[in-house]
Amino acid sequence: MANDSQLMDKLVSLCKRRGYIFQSSEIYGGIGSVWDYGPLGVELQRNVKEAWWRAMVHERDDIEGLDAGILMHPRVWEASGHVAGFTDPLVDCKACKARFRADQLEESSCPRKPSVQPGEYRDCQLTEPRLFNLMFKTFMGPVEDAAAVVYLRPETAQGSYVNFQNVLNAGRQRIPFGIAQVGKAFRNEITPGNFIFRTREFEQMEMQFFVEPGTDDEWFEYWKAKRIEWIQGLGVRAERLRFHEHGPTELAHYAKRAFDIQYEFPFGWSEFEGVHNRTDFDLRRHQEYSGKKLEYVDPMDRDKRYLPYVIETAVGVGRTMLALLADAYHEEEIEGENRVVLRLQPRVAPTKVAVFPLVRKDGMPEFAEKLQREVRAAGLPSFYDDSGSIGRRYRRQDEAGTPFGITVDGQTIADGTVTVRHRDTLRQERIDAGRTVAHVRELIR
Ligand code: ATP
Repeated sequence: MANDSQLMDKLVSLCKRRGYIFQSSEIYGGIGSVWDYGPLGVELQRNVKEAWWRAMVHERDDIEGLDAGILMHPRVWEASGHVAGFTDPLVDCKACKARFRADQLEESSCPRKPSVQPGEYRDCQLTEPRLFNLMFKTFMGPVEDAAAVVYLRPETAQGSYVNFQNVLNAGRQRIPFGIAQVGKAFRNEITPGNFIFRTREFEQMEMQFFVEPGTDDEWFEYWKAKRIEWIQGLGVRAERLRFHEHGPTELAHYAKRAFDIQYEFPFGWSEFEGVHNRTDFDLRRHQEYSGKKLEYVDPMDRDKRYLPYVIETAVGVGRTMLALLADAYHEEEIEGENRVVLRLQPRVAPTKVAVFPLVRKDGMPEFAEKLQREVRAAGLPSFYDDSGSIGRRYRRQDEAGTPFGITVDGQTIADGTVTVRHRDTLRQERIDAGRTVAHVRELIR
Protein backbone atom coordinates (compact mmCIF):
# COMPACT_ATOMS: atom_id res chain seq x y z
CA MET A 1 0.00 0.00 0.00
CA ALA A 2 3.03 2.29 0.46
CA ASN A 3 2.95 5.63 -1.39
CA ASP A 4 -0.62 5.26 -2.46
CA SER A 5 -1.29 8.94 -2.94
CA GLN A 6 -4.55 8.19 -4.72
CA LEU A 7 -5.87 6.43 -1.65
CA MET A 8 -4.85 9.39 0.48
CA ASP A 9 -6.72 11.78 -1.85
CA LYS A 10 -9.79 9.57 -1.72
CA LEU A 11 -9.70 9.47 2.07
CA VAL A 12 -9.35 13.24 2.33
CA SER A 13 -12.30 13.80 0.04
CA LEU A 14 -14.46 11.16 1.75
CA CYS A 15 -13.66 12.80 5.10
CA LYS A 16 -14.84 16.15 3.82
CA ARG A 17 -17.91 14.80 1.99
CA ARG A 18 -19.20 12.76 4.92
CA GLY A 19 -18.34 15.31 7.61
CA TYR A 20 -15.35 13.67 9.24
CA ILE A 21 -12.65 16.31 8.73
CA PHE A 22 -12.59 19.84 7.30
CA GLN A 23 -9.67 22.14 6.72
CA SER A 24 -9.52 24.83 9.40
CA SER A 25 -10.72 28.31 8.33
CA GLU A 26 -11.39 26.95 4.86
CA ILE A 27 -13.42 29.97 3.69
CA TYR A 28 -10.32 32.11 4.28
CA GLY A 29 -8.10 29.75 2.31
CA GLY A 30 -7.22 27.56 5.29
CA ILE A 31 -4.47 27.81 7.89
CA GLY A 32 -1.34 25.71 7.69
CA SER A 33 -1.90 22.26 9.01
CA VAL A 34 -4.82 22.62 11.37
CA TRP A 35 -7.93 20.51 10.80
CA ASP A 36 -11.46 20.66 12.19
CA TYR A 37 -13.41 17.54 13.06
CA GLY A 38 -16.95 17.56 11.68
CA PRO A 39 -20.09 15.80 12.97
CA LEU A 40 -18.81 12.27 12.29
CA GLY A 41 -15.15 13.10 12.99
CA VAL A 42 -15.90 14.35 16.45
CA GLU A 43 -17.81 11.15 17.27
CA LEU A 44 -14.94 8.96 16.04
CA GLN A 45 -12.53 11.10 18.01
CA ARG A 46 -14.59 10.75 21.20
CA ASN A 47 -14.83 6.99 20.71
CA VAL A 48 -11.05 6.67 20.26
CA LYS A 49 -10.38 8.70 23.40
CA GLU A 50 -13.03 6.74 25.30
CA ALA A 51 -11.49 3.39 24.24
CA TRP A 52 -8.05 4.61 25.36
CA TRP A 53 -9.32 5.94 28.70
CA ARG A 54 -11.18 2.76 29.37
CA ALA A 55 -8.15 0.55 28.68
CA MET A 56 -5.67 2.79 30.48
CA VAL A 57 -7.68 4.15 33.43
CA HIS A 58 -11.08 2.56 34.09
CA GLU A 59 -10.05 -1.07 33.63
CA ARG A 60 -6.98 -0.74 35.89
CA ASP A 61 -6.40 0.18 39.48
CA ASP A 62 -2.78 1.31 39.00
CA ILE A 63 -3.39 4.31 36.70
CA GLU A 64 -5.00 7.62 37.66
CA GLY A 65 -6.40 10.25 35.30
CA LEU A 66 -5.33 13.89 35.18
CA ASP A 67 -6.17 16.96 33.12
CA ALA A 68 -3.43 19.55 33.56
CA GLY A 69 -3.45 23.04 32.02
CA ILE A 70 -2.03 23.73 28.57
CA LEU A 71 -0.18 26.77 29.92
CA MET A 72 2.42 26.01 32.59
CA HIS A 73 5.07 27.91 34.52
CA PRO A 74 7.81 28.78 31.99
CA ARG A 75 10.44 27.16 34.23
CA VAL A 76 8.78 23.79 33.50
CA TRP A 77 10.06 23.95 29.94
CA GLU A 78 13.54 24.98 31.02
CA ALA A 79 13.68 22.05 33.43
CA SER A 80 12.28 19.60 30.88
CA GLY A 81 14.95 20.56 28.37
CA HIS A 82 12.42 21.81 25.78
CA VAL A 83 13.64 25.45 25.75
CA ALA A 84 17.17 24.35 24.94
CA GLY A 85 16.61 21.11 23.11
CA PHE A 86 13.15 20.77 21.51
CA THR A 87 14.44 21.78 18.14
CA ASP A 88 14.53 20.55 14.60
CA PRO A 89 17.32 21.47 12.19
CA LEU A 90 15.87 23.83 9.58
CA VAL A 91 17.29 24.26 6.07
CA ASP A 92 16.12 27.04 3.71
CA CYS A 93 16.43 27.21 -0.03
CA LYS A 94 17.72 30.63 -1.07
CA ALA A 95 16.41 30.18 -4.61
CA CYS A 96 12.83 29.01 -4.10
CA LYS A 97 12.34 29.85 -0.38
CA ALA A 98 11.11 26.35 0.49
CA ARG A 99 11.93 25.00 3.97
CA PHE A 100 13.04 21.51 4.90
CA ARG A 101 14.00 19.53 7.95
CA ALA A 102 17.69 18.77 7.56
CA ASP A 103 17.17 15.31 9.08
CA GLN A 104 14.45 14.48 6.53
CA LEU A 105 16.16 15.66 3.34
CA GLU A 106 16.36 12.08 2.05
CA GLU A 107 12.57 11.63 2.18
CA SER A 108 11.43 15.08 1.04
CA SER A 109 11.87 17.00 -2.19
CA CYS A 110 11.36 20.52 -3.45
CA PRO A 111 7.60 21.32 -3.24
CA ARG A 112 7.94 23.81 -6.13
CA LYS A 113 9.15 21.03 -8.44
CA PRO A 114 6.79 18.16 -7.76
CA SER A 115 8.31 15.97 -10.48
CA VAL A 116 11.65 15.79 -8.65
CA GLN A 117 12.41 12.52 -6.83
CA PRO A 118 12.71 12.45 -3.02
CA GLY A 119 16.19 13.46 -1.95
CA GLU A 120 16.80 15.56 -5.08
CA TYR A 121 17.09 19.32 -4.85
CA ARG A 122 17.91 20.37 -8.40
CA ASP A 123 18.46 24.15 -8.68
CA CYS A 124 17.91 24.54 -4.94
CA GLN A 125 20.45 26.49 -2.90
CA LEU A 126 20.21 24.96 0.55
CA THR A 127 21.56 26.88 3.55
CA GLU A 128 23.41 25.30 6.45
CA PRO A 129 20.97 23.82 9.03
CA ARG A 130 19.98 26.05 11.93
CA LEU A 131 18.08 24.95 15.00
CA PHE A 132 14.44 25.94 15.22
CA ASN A 133 12.49 25.57 18.47
CA LEU A 134 9.13 23.89 17.95
CA MET A 135 7.35 25.43 20.93
CA PHE A 136 4.69 28.09 20.32
CA LYS A 137 5.22 31.19 22.46
CA THR A 138 2.59 33.55 23.74
CA PHE A 139 2.31 36.17 26.50
CA MET A 140 0.49 35.89 29.79
CA GLY A 141 -1.12 39.10 31.05
CA PRO A 142 -1.32 42.49 29.34
CA VAL A 143 2.41 43.16 28.91
CA GLU A 144 4.10 41.66 25.90
CA ASP A 145 7.67 41.50 27.16
CA ALA A 146 10.21 38.78 27.78
CA ALA A 147 9.10 38.34 31.39
CA ALA A 148 5.55 37.44 30.29
CA VAL A 149 6.47 34.69 27.82
CA VAL A 150 4.68 31.39 28.28
CA TYR A 151 4.55 28.37 25.99
CA LEU A 152 1.75 26.24 24.62
CA ARG A 153 2.70 22.76 25.83
CA PRO A 154 4.31 20.54 23.18
CA GLU A 155 3.39 17.39 25.18
CA THR A 156 1.04 16.60 28.05
CA ALA A 157 3.70 14.61 29.93
CA GLN A 158 5.14 17.53 31.92
CA GLY A 159 1.76 18.14 33.58
CA SER A 160 1.94 14.57 34.89
CA TYR A 161 5.49 14.99 36.22
CA VAL A 162 4.86 18.23 38.11
CA ASN A 163 1.74 16.63 39.64
CA PHE A 164 3.50 13.38 40.51
CA GLN A 165 3.39 13.92 44.29
CA ASN A 166 -0.18 15.31 44.22
CA VAL A 167 -1.56 12.29 42.37
CA LEU A 168 0.51 9.82 44.37
CA ASN A 169 -0.86 11.14 47.66
CA ALA A 170 -4.44 11.94 46.63
CA GLY A 171 -4.83 8.64 44.77
CA ARG A 172 -3.24 6.68 47.68
CA GLN A 173 -1.12 4.95 45.09
CA ARG A 174 2.13 3.03 45.45
CA ILE A 175 4.80 2.47 42.91
CA PRO A 176 4.40 1.10 40.28
CA PHE A 177 1.55 3.33 39.14
CA GLY A 178 0.75 5.63 36.26
CA ILE A 179 -0.83 8.98 35.36
CA ALA A 180 -2.90 9.23 32.17
CA GLN A 181 -3.85 12.37 30.28
CA VAL A 182 -5.69 13.23 27.09
CA GLY A 183 -5.23 16.76 25.84
CA LYS A 184 -4.11 19.24 23.25
CA ALA A 185 -0.47 19.81 22.41
CA PHE A 186 1.11 22.27 19.99
CA ARG A 187 4.26 22.05 17.89
CA ASN A 188 5.38 24.56 15.32
CA GLU A 189 6.39 21.80 12.92
CA ILE A 190 8.65 22.80 10.03
CA THR A 191 7.12 20.34 7.61
CA PRO A 192 3.57 19.51 8.64
CA GLY A 193 1.53 17.44 6.28
CA ASN A 194 -0.03 14.18 5.20
CA PHE A 195 -3.49 15.38 6.24
CA ILE A 196 -3.98 14.88 10.00
CA PHE A 197 -0.72 12.91 10.39
CA ARG A 198 1.47 15.87 11.29
CA THR A 199 -0.34 19.02 12.38
CA ARG A 200 0.65 22.00 14.47
CA GLU A 201 -2.24 21.60 16.90
CA PHE A 202 -3.10 18.06 17.91
CA GLU A 203 -4.34 15.93 20.74
CA GLN A 204 -2.32 13.36 22.63
CA MET A 205 -3.19 10.41 24.83
CA GLU A 206 -0.20 9.98 27.09
CA MET A 207 0.49 7.81 30.10
CA GLN A 208 3.48 8.10 32.43
CA PHE A 209 4.15 4.93 34.42
CA PHE A 210 6.39 5.42 37.47
CA VAL A 211 8.50 2.40 38.43
CA GLU A 212 11.37 1.46 40.68
CA PRO A 213 14.74 1.84 38.91
CA GLY A 214 15.96 -1.59 37.87
CA THR A 215 12.42 -2.77 36.99
CA ASP A 216 12.18 -0.34 34.07
CA ASP A 217 13.28 -2.76 31.31
CA GLU A 218 10.61 -5.23 32.30
CA TRP A 219 7.87 -2.56 32.39
CA PHE A 220 9.08 -1.21 29.07
CA GLU A 221 8.44 -4.61 27.45
CA TYR A 222 5.09 -4.87 29.23
CA TRP A 223 3.87 -1.54 27.85
CA LYS A 224 5.12 -2.23 24.33
CA ALA A 225 3.02 -5.40 24.26
CA LYS A 226 -0.02 -3.74 25.84
CA ARG A 227 -0.07 -0.85 23.43
CA ILE A 228 0.17 -2.88 20.23
CA GLU A 229 -2.57 -5.12 21.61
CA TRP A 230 -4.76 -2.04 22.13
CA ILE A 231 -4.62 -0.84 18.56
CA GLN A 232 -5.19 -4.34 17.23
CA GLY A 233 -8.21 -4.53 19.52
CA LEU A 234 -9.64 -1.54 17.64
CA GLY A 235 -9.56 -3.64 14.49
CA VAL A 236 -6.32 -2.46 12.84
CA ARG A 237 -4.75 -5.24 10.77
CA ALA A 238 -1.69 -6.81 12.41
CA GLU A 239 0.26 -6.94 9.15
CA ARG A 240 0.13 -3.16 8.95
CA LEU A 241 1.71 -2.70 12.38
CA ARG A 242 5.34 -3.07 13.41
CA PHE A 243 7.85 -1.84 15.98
CA HIS A 244 10.76 0.38 15.14
CA GLU A 245 13.52 0.93 17.69
CA HIS A 246 15.16 4.35 17.84
CA GLY A 247 18.86 4.28 17.07
CA PRO A 248 21.26 6.51 19.05
CA THR A 249 20.80 9.48 16.68
CA GLU A 250 16.99 9.32 16.90
CA LEU A 251 16.71 9.13 20.70
CA ALA A 252 15.15 12.19 22.36
CA HIS A 253 17.21 14.03 24.96
CA TYR A 254 15.37 12.32 27.83
CA ALA A 255 15.21 8.75 26.57
CA LYS A 256 17.20 5.65 27.43
CA ARG A 257 15.26 3.48 24.98
CA ALA A 258 12.41 4.22 22.62
CA PHE A 259 10.25 2.15 20.32
CA ASP A 260 7.77 3.50 17.83
CA ILE A 261 4.71 1.52 16.91
CA GLN A 262 4.48 2.15 13.19
CA TYR A 263 1.50 1.77 10.89
CA GLU A 264 1.74 1.31 7.15
CA PHE A 265 -0.03 4.54 6.13
CA PRO A 266 -0.83 5.16 2.44
CA PHE A 267 2.38 7.25 2.36
CA GLY A 268 4.51 4.51 3.96
CA TRP A 269 5.46 3.14 7.38
CA SER A 270 5.35 5.90 10.00
CA GLU A 271 5.11 6.28 13.77
CA PHE A 272 1.75 6.60 15.34
CA GLU A 273 2.67 5.76 18.94
CA GLY A 274 5.86 5.99 20.96
CA VAL A 275 6.86 3.92 23.99
CA HIS A 276 9.74 5.57 25.82
CA ASN A 277 11.93 4.83 28.80
CA ARG A 278 12.41 8.41 30.05
CA THR A 279 14.43 7.25 33.11
CA ASP A 280 14.32 9.67 36.07
CA PHE A 281 15.36 12.52 33.77
CA ASP A 282 12.21 14.64 34.09
CA LEU A 283 11.59 14.17 37.83
CA ARG A 284 15.27 14.81 38.57
CA ARG A 285 15.26 18.02 36.58
CA HIS A 286 11.99 19.25 38.16
CA GLN A 287 13.40 18.49 41.60
CA GLU A 288 16.49 20.48 40.75
CA TYR A 289 14.71 23.46 39.15
CA SER A 290 11.83 23.71 41.65
CA GLY A 291 13.83 22.91 44.77
CA LYS A 292 10.98 20.56 45.86
CA LYS A 293 11.69 16.95 46.82
CA LEU A 294 10.05 14.60 44.35
CA GLU A 295 11.43 11.34 45.77
CA TYR A 296 9.24 8.36 46.43
CA VAL A 297 9.43 6.91 49.93
CA ASP A 298 8.54 3.24 50.08
CA PRO A 299 5.78 2.94 52.73
CA MET A 300 6.98 -0.57 53.70
CA ASP A 301 10.59 0.51 54.15
CA ARG A 302 10.97 4.20 54.90
CA ASP A 303 14.72 4.07 54.29
CA LYS A 304 14.08 3.14 50.72
CA ARG A 305 13.81 6.40 48.78
CA TYR A 306 14.33 6.98 45.12
CA LEU A 307 13.33 9.00 42.10
CA PRO A 308 11.19 6.68 40.01
CA TYR A 309 11.94 5.83 36.41
CA VAL A 310 9.19 6.59 33.90
CA ILE A 311 7.90 4.45 31.05
CA GLU A 312 5.82 6.64 28.78
CA THR A 313 3.27 5.61 26.18
CA ALA A 314 2.36 8.50 23.85
CA VAL A 315 -0.07 8.39 20.97
CA GLY A 316 -1.85 11.06 18.92
CA VAL A 317 -5.65 11.03 18.65
CA GLY A 318 -5.45 12.26 15.04
CA ARG A 319 -2.84 9.70 14.02
CA THR A 320 -4.91 6.93 15.58
CA MET A 321 -7.94 8.18 13.63
CA LEU A 322 -5.94 8.29 10.41
CA ALA A 323 -4.74 4.71 10.95
CA LEU A 324 -8.30 3.57 11.69
CA LEU A 325 -9.71 5.35 8.64
CA ALA A 326 -6.98 4.13 6.26
CA ASP A 327 -7.35 0.60 7.57
CA ALA A 328 -11.14 0.68 7.32
CA TYR A 329 -11.31 2.08 3.77
CA HIS A 330 -12.36 -0.50 1.18
CA GLU A 331 -13.58 -0.34 -2.36
CA GLU A 332 -15.41 -3.33 -3.72
CA GLU A 333 -17.74 -4.36 -6.49
CA ILE A 334 -21.20 -5.55 -5.52
CA GLU A 335 -23.52 -6.76 -8.29
CA GLY A 336 -21.61 -4.75 -10.89
CA GLU A 337 -21.65 -1.58 -8.79
CA ASN A 338 -18.71 -0.03 -7.03
CA ARG A 339 -19.14 0.50 -3.31
CA VAL A 340 -16.91 2.38 -0.90
CA VAL A 341 -17.18 1.14 2.64
CA LEU A 342 -15.52 2.18 5.88
CA ARG A 343 -15.27 -1.01 7.89
CA LEU A 344 -14.84 0.76 11.21
CA GLN A 345 -15.35 -1.45 14.21
CA PRO A 346 -18.90 -0.85 15.57
CA ARG A 347 -17.38 0.23 18.90
CA VAL A 348 -15.61 3.21 17.29
CA ALA A 349 -17.98 3.93 14.39
CA PRO A 350 -19.52 7.43 14.76
CA THR A 351 -23.10 6.45 13.93
CA LYS A 352 -24.17 3.01 15.14
CA VAL A 353 -27.54 2.69 13.43
CA ALA A 354 -29.26 4.17 10.41
CA VAL A 355 -33.05 3.96 10.31
CA PHE A 356 -34.83 3.85 6.95
CA PRO A 357 -38.53 3.77 6.10
CA LEU A 358 -38.62 1.87 2.80
CA VAL A 359 -41.09 4.36 1.33
CA ARG A 360 -42.62 7.60 2.61
CA LYS A 361 -46.16 6.24 3.02
CA ASP A 362 -48.35 3.50 4.51
CA GLY A 363 -47.36 4.29 8.10
CA MET A 364 -43.69 3.47 7.53
CA PRO A 365 -42.27 6.94 8.34
CA GLU A 366 -44.24 7.10 11.60
CA PHE A 367 -43.05 3.63 12.63
CA ALA A 368 -39.44 4.44 11.68
CA GLU A 369 -39.47 7.77 13.51
CA LYS A 370 -40.74 6.11 16.67
CA LEU A 371 -38.07 3.45 16.36
CA GLN A 372 -35.38 6.08 15.97
CA ARG A 373 -36.63 7.87 19.08
CA GLU A 374 -36.15 4.63 21.01
CA VAL A 375 -32.66 4.13 19.59
CA ARG A 376 -31.77 7.72 20.47
CA ALA A 377 -33.17 7.44 23.99
CA ALA A 378 -30.96 4.39 24.50
CA GLY A 379 -27.90 6.57 23.80
CA LEU A 380 -27.03 5.00 20.45
CA PRO A 381 -25.97 7.62 17.88
CA SER A 382 -28.28 7.18 14.89
CA PHE A 383 -29.22 8.68 11.56
CA TYR A 384 -32.65 8.82 9.91
CA ASP A 385 -32.77 8.81 6.13
CA ASP A 386 -35.87 8.69 3.96
CA SER A 387 -34.56 10.26 0.76
CA GLY A 388 -33.61 8.43 -2.42
CA SER A 389 -33.65 4.74 -3.26
CA ILE A 390 -32.92 2.32 -0.45
CA GLY A 391 -29.78 1.17 -2.31
CA ARG A 392 -28.40 4.72 -2.36
CA ARG A 393 -29.26 5.22 1.27
CA TYR A 394 -27.31 2.04 2.15
CA ARG A 395 -24.30 3.24 0.11
CA ARG A 396 -24.23 6.58 1.89
CA GLN A 397 -24.12 4.85 5.25
CA ASP A 398 -21.48 2.35 4.04
CA GLU A 399 -19.25 5.26 3.16
CA ALA A 400 -19.89 6.91 6.51
CA GLY A 401 -19.00 3.66 8.30
CA THR A 402 -22.40 3.02 9.92
CA PRO A 403 -22.37 -0.67 10.85
CA PHE A 404 -26.12 -1.39 10.98
CA GLY A 405 -29.14 -0.29 8.97
CA ILE A 406 -32.69 -0.88 10.21
CA THR A 407 -35.34 -0.87 7.49
CA VAL A 408 -39.03 -0.46 8.12
CA ASP A 409 -41.09 -1.97 5.27
CA GLY A 410 -44.56 -3.27 4.46
CA GLN A 411 -44.06 -6.40 6.55
CA THR A 412 -43.14 -4.24 9.56
CA ILE A 413 -46.61 -2.73 9.55
CA ALA A 414 -48.16 -6.19 9.30
CA ASP A 415 -46.11 -8.12 11.88
CA GLY A 416 -43.90 -5.65 13.77
CA THR A 417 -40.57 -6.97 12.44
CA VAL A 418 -37.76 -4.94 10.84
CA THR A 419 -34.69 -5.92 8.83
CA VAL A 420 -31.20 -5.38 10.16
CA ARG A 421 -28.61 -4.94 7.42
CA HIS A 422 -24.98 -5.61 8.27
CA ARG A 423 -22.56 -3.20 6.56
CA ASP A 424 -19.63 -5.59 6.11
CA THR A 425 -21.33 -8.83 5.11
CA LEU A 426 -24.51 -7.32 3.61
CA ARG A 427 -26.38 -9.98 5.56
CA GLN A 428 -29.99 -9.11 6.34
CA GLU A 429 -31.93 -10.54 9.22
CA ARG A 430 -35.45 -9.96 10.47
CA ILE A 431 -36.01 -9.21 14.09
CA ASP A 432 -38.85 -8.03 16.26
CA ALA A 433 -38.79 -4.20 16.18
CA GLY A 434 -39.06 -4.14 19.97
CA ARG A 435 -35.70 -5.93 20.19
CA THR A 436 -33.81 -3.39 18.05
CA VAL A 437 -31.94 -1.64 20.86
CA ALA A 438 -31.01 -4.85 22.69
CA HIS A 439 -29.92 -6.49 19.43
CA VAL A 440 -27.73 -3.58 18.30
CA ARG A 441 -26.15 -3.41 21.75
CA GLU A 442 -25.21 -7.08 21.52
CA LEU A 443 -23.71 -6.55 18.06
CA ILE A 444 -21.61 -3.60 19.21
CA ARG A 445 -20.13 -5.36 22.20
P1 ATP B 1 7.41 12.59 14.93
O1 ATP B 1 8.77 11.95 14.92
O2 ATP B 1 6.43 11.98 13.97
O3 ATP B 1 7.45 14.09 14.87
P2 ATP B 1 7.60 12.40 17.72
O4 ATP B 1 8.52 11.24 17.87
O5 ATP B 1 8.11 13.76 17.89
O6 ATP B 1 6.80 12.28 16.35
P3 ATP B 1 6.33 12.09 20.23
O7 ATP B 1 6.97 13.28 20.81
O8 ATP B 1 6.79 10.75 20.68
O9 ATP B 1 6.37 12.18 18.65
O10 ATP B 1 4.76 12.25 20.42
C1 ATP B 1 3.92 11.15 20.72
C2 ATP B 1 2.82 10.99 19.70
O11 ATP B 1 2.12 12.21 19.52
C3 ATP B 1 3.27 10.59 18.30
O12 ATP B 1 3.49 9.22 18.22
C4 ATP B 1 2.11 11.05 17.47
O13 ATP B 1 1.06 10.08 17.49
C5 ATP B 1 1.65 12.28 18.18
N1 ATP B 1 2.22 13.46 17.51
C6 ATP B 1 3.43 14.03 17.73
N2 ATP B 1 3.61 15.10 16.95
C7 ATP B 1 2.46 15.24 16.22
C8 ATP B 1 2.01 16.16 15.24
N3 ATP B 1 2.76 17.20 14.87
N4 ATP B 1 0.79 15.99 14.71
C9 ATP B 1 0.00 14.96 15.10
N5 ATP B 1 0.36 14.07 16.02
C10 ATP B 1 1.58 14.19 16.58
